[in-house]
Amino acid sequence: HYHVDNANVENITSAVESKHTHPEIPAYKDFEAYQNDGGYSLLRDCLAGQKTPDELIKVMEDSGLRGLGGAGFPAGLKWKIVRQQPKPRLFAINGDEGEPGTFKDRFYLESDPHRFLEGMLVAAWAAEVETIYVYIRDEYPAVIEILQREIAKLETAGLTAGRRIEVRRGAGAYICGEESAMIESIEGKRGLPRHKPPFPSEKGLFGLPTLTHNVETVYWVRDLVERGPEWFSSEGRNGRKGLRSFSVSGRVKSPGVKLAPAGITVRELIEEYCGGMADGHSFKGYLPGGASGGVLPASMGDIPLDFGTLEEYGSFIGSAAVVILSDQDNMKDVALNLMRFFEDESCGQCTPCRNGTEKAVKLMSEPKWDQDLLNDLSVVMRDASICGLGQAAPNPLLTVMKYFPEDL
Ligand code: SF4
Repeated sequence: HYHVDNANVENITSAVESKHTHPEIPAYKDFEAYQNDGGYSLLRDCLAGQKTPDELIKVMEDSGLRGLGGAGFPAGLKWKIVRQQPKPRLFAINGDEGEPGTFKDRFYLESDPHRFLEGMLVAAWAAEVETIYVYIRDEYPAVIEILQREIAKLETAGLTAGRRIEVRRGAGAYICGEESAMIESIEGKRGLPRHKPPFPSEKGLFGLPTLTHNVETVYWVRDLVERGPEWFSSEGRNGRKGLRSFSVSGRVKSPGVKLAPAGITVRELIEEYCGGMADGHSFKGYLPGGASGGVLPASMGDIPLDFGTLEEYGSFIGSAAVVILSDQDNMKDVALNLMRFFEDESCGQCTPCRNGTEKAVKLMSEPKWDQDLLNDLSVVMRDASICGLGQAAPNPLLTVMKYFPEDL
């Protein structure tokens, strides 16, 4: 149901139909089609020693590519750090795309899976990892089947270079998208986030140094090498650099995955990429970063969307899931809905989050919010929760109190 509608991604829209048996497997670019299009020549060059890991790391660094799962850590630097760790090293790919409103990874995996797999194998080669774990949320059964089918072809073709690739299914927990909870889950345990440090690059899966990447981060590796890092770094608006895959949903005419310049404003995104607001709706506010990034009003629709640009407003872009809300949406209801989500998804490990989300839902279900108490509760959750879920859970209620007092 998702589409990319701009010229930068013509490679995706030209995906050819592959033979399949499962009724819900979408048409995607399979191994043969991807190879015919020049695919895997980068990986083959790497494996044949035609390129060096340092060269690749430099391309990553020059492009300014950052982790696209939400944290935005520079990708090249991560490869460097992991390479400095003792062997054996492991690799965990985070495909647990659970942030509400985010569907870019699914889109890329269901249309051009080998662009992701080649990037993943190049990263594995550069960081010299032994085994790769690909963690995919169970709600994406087509993705799991596609990957299993296509990885088998890579093994037959000798392109895995002896590396073991394991596709692991998640089991429906949002928290397993948090990197250390994902690691616990891959180890066969409950997905409880770990305290950091140590960071996974030093002590990750099974206590070994672990490279971790979101699906989309490695998806861009081939393009960065082929088109040159400046292709990526020269994009951007309003002083920001790079491209971002915005998952846009809500009250727009044409929702979907929109590959757009980093730093674009939400107004530009709606007008230029989404065909404007849906009929009968006028722009009232937006979630710039899924459930966790709070709710901003239309009057703040001209802020560049990127890592680090929204924090001063009590918000953040995260995985770039932009949900557009209209005059027909009540922000009090929106905030309560999001808090219910966090209450359901709290892993229960720490009190501020486990009890805080429950208490917040109770307070927010009252006809009139006790704003002082909600403020106090938010401070405790933000300061004392172990992981990002509990720390970010108050963002929707805090931003609604601040920017939408008329809805309370
Ligand atoms: Fe679990 Fe919430 Fe604590 Fe994170 S903040 S560890 S999700 S209880």
